[in-house]
Amino acid sequence: MSLAIVYSRAGSTVRAPLITIETHLSPGLPRFNIVGLAETAVKESKDRVRAALMQSHFVFPVRRITINLAPAELPKEGGRFDLAIALGILAASGQIDKNLLADYEFAGELALSGALRPINKCLPMAIATYRANRSLVVPQDNAPEASICRGLSILPVDSLLSVCAHFRGEKIIPAYVNPCLEPANPARTADLSDVYGQAVARRALEIAAAGQHSLLMSGPPGVGKTMLASRLPGILPPLAEDDALELAAVTSLAGRTVDPATWKVRPFRAPHHCASSVALVGGGRPPKPGEISLAHNGVLFLDELPEFSRQVLESLREPMESGCITISRAAYQSEFPAQFQLIAAMNPCPCGYLGSERCNCGPQQIERYHRKISGPLLDRIDMHITMSPPDLDNKQAGESSDTVRTRVIAAREKQQTRCGTTNAHLNTQAIEAHCALAPSIETYLKKAIEQYQLSARAYHRVLRVARTIADLADSETIEQTHLAEALFYRPTLGRR
Ligand SMILES: [Zn+2]
Repeated sequence: MSLAIVYSRAGSTVRAPLITIETHLSPGLPRFNIVGLAETAVKESKDRVRAALMQSHFVFPVRRITINLAPAELPKEGGRFDLAIALGILAASGQIDKNLLADYEFAGELALSGALRPINKCLPMAIATYRANRSLVVPQDNAPEASICRGLSILPVDSLLSVCAHFRGEKIIPAYVNPCLEPANPARTADLSDVYGQAVARRALEIAAAGQHSLLMSGPPGVGKTMLASRLPGILPPLAEDDALELAAVTSLAGRTVDPATWKVRPFRAPHHCASSVALVGGGRPPKPGEISLAHNGVLFLDELPEFSRQVLESLREPMESGCITISRAAYQSEFPAQFQLIAAMNPCPCGYLGSERCNCGPQQIERYHRKISGPLLDRIDMHITMSPPDLDNKQAGESSDTVRTRVIAAREKQQTRCGTTNAHLNTQAIEAHCALAPSIETYLKKAIEQYQLSARAYHRVLRVARTIADLADSETIEQTHLAEALFYRPTLGRR
């Protein structure tokens, strides 16, 4: 029998699909073929594998060698399959016992010397290997990142020789143990108690945190919009292990190293307004996740919202509704999670000082500035507030982040118990079931809808925000005061 099977995984999506590397040796003229939609980098691995095997003093079989990377329709990239291909040849030619390889998955790029180089996008593979109940063999430098997947057995290896010595029982490699996987609580650099005054904005931020609602803050420069936004992660509940793992997998797919010391910290992403739509929502070939996915389960802060290109902003509409983004490029189709909380900020006019003597923006200029953000996008933002400069005489410190966070966590727990999601993500059926109004309050809301010409989407958003306000007040039902406050945060009330 000269057929061997070795497992590895593709690295292009969060799910990291299984790739089976079949190696077949047959008599005939010596040839070395790799089939299965292998790209240039995989074809180049032939040369690396041949040199590495010979440099490590293994026998390179003088036979007809066929390597099949299955399934064929999955795109495959990079040198990550080198190690698996080399082991396939060694197993098919009887230089190592092929029965020992079935419980493992392998990844690593070979140097010509037989040394192993780290791969990128390692974490999605680690998670998938763990779920498949196998152990992972990866280059040493990949081990810390892979170890974020708790419970996974990892063999860190430095060369083809050390892998073979392990499987021949000559020198056993101990499983990797990460010394710093449980970091102390991350130091919180910014606290809400630093923000003086701004009672309305602080209250809005707390509601947004409690229900995961999107928020647009409008106000002159220096009023504290960025200061408030950057304090949002500090009042959010801690990231659950599964959510943190999913975020870490996305970070790894973006080609970034996942730091075991900070991987449980909620992300705060603040891309510049020059960002392209590929940078913001993802793209490229093979597709990489963008800022909205790097902000998954965290905060996406867009400062100076009207300065972003309109096309870039419009690309946010679909993921804001669905919580994920699908990118199709030729053979590649990738879906990345993108359940981000959008916090946006803008000036009231191009110069920023509308209403003061310093402002000399004309009405048309102001209108043009506001028109840069489309109605449908504004409609998708749950809460809108206008901020004015703080009262400089009022130096009373506000509540600390810890105090606010306690209330936010209590409100989130109510939402989880009720429907297993945050209020911002309640679907229509859940809204009907959990945001029912007493008849008198229903009449009040109908009047408001007529008066302010709220769209059906805006109507649902008002109910979701009202549900969060009721949760913060520990009220089972939505009362008129909760609804009135939710309506206060709609932009159609003529405050913009
Ligand atoms: Zn102005």
